[in-house]
Amino acid sequence: MAKVTVIGLGNMGRPMALNLQKAGNETLGWDLVPAARDRFTSEGGRIANGLEGALKDADAVVSMIPAGPDVHAAYLGENGILVHAAKETLLIDSSTIDVDTSRAVSKAATEAGYMMVDAPVSGAQPAAIAGTLTFMVGGTVEAFEKAKPVLEGMGTNVIHAGPAGSGQAAKICNNMLAGTNMAVLCEALHLGQGLGLDPKVMFEIINKSSGQSWALTNYCPVPGPVPAAASNRNFEPGFATALMTKDMTLSQQAAQSAGVSTPLAAQARAMYQLLVNSGYADKDFSVIYEFLAGQKK
Ligand code: NAD
Repeated sequence: MAKVTVIGLGNMGRPMALNLQKAGNETLGWDLVPAARDRFTSEGGRIANGLEGALKDADAVVSMIPAGPDVHAAYLGENGILVHAAKETLLIDSSTIDVDTSRAVSKAATEAGYMMVDAPVSGAQPAAIAGTLTFMVGGTVEAFEKAKPVLEGMGTNVIHAGPAGSGQAAKICNNMLAGTNMAVLCEALHLGQGLGLDPKVMFEIINKSSGQSWALTNYCPVPGPVPAAASNRNFEPGFATALMTKDMTLSQQAAQSAGVSTPLAAQARAMYQLLVNSGYADKDFSVIYEFLAGQKK
């Protein structure tokens, strides 16, 4: 088993690191924020003494941090990962970021003598906890093969999408769909309620009908039917609305640069932006349901 360091111990990185540990890897964690480090250790994780200590002797690094500028700074910054990691350390960025930044960081790392893959995930926090994430991986075949056993400690599906940046490209298409899906699911449940239907009965019916989706079955925005869903804990994330807005915006930037029309997703992006501007940034993205139903925080 390998020595693996996880950088970024938030909603996703923390359970991912704990699963790597359970899978028998010698795992260390690091986060810029002391509260995140404390929570990780309180759940059984081990913390290194600073980034330098976290990277010493690591066979692989998995970063799980918010956005492109964070990843750029974490890897290429003055006191960043490329300064402290040995050239033999495999670099795996599992954050969801824009394709251009992902390619630029990967190019810089490769030129500096490292092997790197982008390996964003799908499945959200319940899958991160259960160790059933899907990884979509961009990089050379050699780097993919090296990353696969590490990723299998955190997920059940590890798919090679193509060269560097391809994992991010696949992820952004997936999240554009997931975000749009959740928005229209919330509208359908809201409409049903307006027509006098019980949302729990609607869950039962749609779950067995052509409107069924991952959003409904695994992440139902109505409290009750899916115990692990954020709707049962006052929409604590899970996957924050701010992060879904980031992903929806990335999809629209990508669509623009590729000259592709995605009009429904553009509407859904505007919906998430409205939620952020209305004070819901830190709530789970499925809070659209509550927003539509009562516009209360
Ligand atoms: P989060 O905000 O809960 O956690 C991010 C953590 O990274 C924070 O604790 C922050 O302090 C830390 N961090 C930031 N920069 C750092 C650095 N340079 N060094 C060390 N730590 C640093 O976010 P999250 O929900 O865990 O999401 C992380 C990434 O995974 C994002 O790109 C997100 O889009 C993606 N993602 C999230 C989900 C989800 O359901 N939450 C699902 C799939 C993908």
